[in-house]
Amino acid sequence: MTNLMRGTELARDIVLRASEKAAGYTERTGRKPCLATVIVGDDPASVTYVRMKQNRSHKAGLESRHVALPEETTTGELVAKIRELSDDPEVHGILLQHPVPRHIDERAAFEAIAPHKDVDGVTMHSFAGMSFGHSEFVSCTPGGIIRLLDAYDVEITGKHAVVIGRSPILGKPAAMLLLARDATVTICHSKTAGLPEIVRTADIVVAAVGKPKFVQGDWIKPGAVVVDAGYNEGNVGDVDFDAVTDALITPVPGGVGPTTIAVLLEQTVDAAWRELDA
Ligand code: NAP
Repeated sequence: MTNLMRGTELARDIVLRASEKAAGYTERTGRKPCLATVIVGDDPASVTYVRMKQNRSHKAGLESRHVALPEETTTGELVAKIRELSDDPEVHGILLQHPVPRHIDERAAFEAIAPHKDVDGVTMHSFAGMSFGHSEFVSCTPGGIIRLLDAYDVEITGKHAVVIGRSPILGKPAAMLLLARDATVTICHSKTAGLPEIVRTADIVVAAVGKPKFVQGDWIKPGAVVVDAGYNEGNVGDVDFDAVTDALITPVPGGVGPTTIAVLLEQTVDAAWRELDA
């Protein structure tokens, strides 16, 4: 039997709590927690994602500051802009929309985000925190994945988790967070040999590949937990959802996606409070 892990309700709860904390912050300081979003170029999907993040920020009682830079922006110019936001006391969190145009060194740009404002969990500082189990901020999608597993009482300790994908914003941090929760973790990628056999041994599968319906139904062990982080054109995930017959699985859409923005807002409000308490 297939049961669903729905992210929409969980995200609503997280955002509700974040908005209450944001209201408390505003009451105390007369200011709103502020998320700065930075986008380079005009990729339609990225523009939509950033707009969604801004809208949700406003609804939750946060201020959002938007910086849109032209496609031809250089690495140096982007780094300088992000440093400026890092130094700006009115800004509590910074999100650089991924991906940036190819000519830009994205890692250099991410590293210009001050660690205490890295509410999207993209810096090496945050990655180290996740790896050592002492994270100030987690990468938002992996953080949302863990929240989903917890919300559905999925036992992580001692389980074999197979993460397919090793990107710095998704696969790798998801693996680190699962490891920190005492899963035995296998990370797979495009050069992995015998992927279906490895996935068949998984108690928990995290699909973060970026290829529609890539994970086949017969790769999934009966009773496994399947987290589909993929989001491909036409609202299609990385797992062949209809072919999975016996699992606890996230739908696409309405699974992992909504939790990502919720964690981003929560971490922005936490950043604002932390700065006050510092
Ligand atoms: P990415 O940077 O392109 O990384 C994809 C990963 O998949 C890479 O590590 C790659 O391996 C691996 N891969 C590619 N082909 C493979 C194969 N045949 N077998 C095994 N592994 C393979 O993508 P991403 O940014 O992590 O995103 C992954 C998916 O998640 C996308 O669908 C994206 O839209 C979605 N996503 C969703 C959210 C959300 O909020 N829900 C957020 C971010 C991303 P190599 O490292 O060897 O190249």
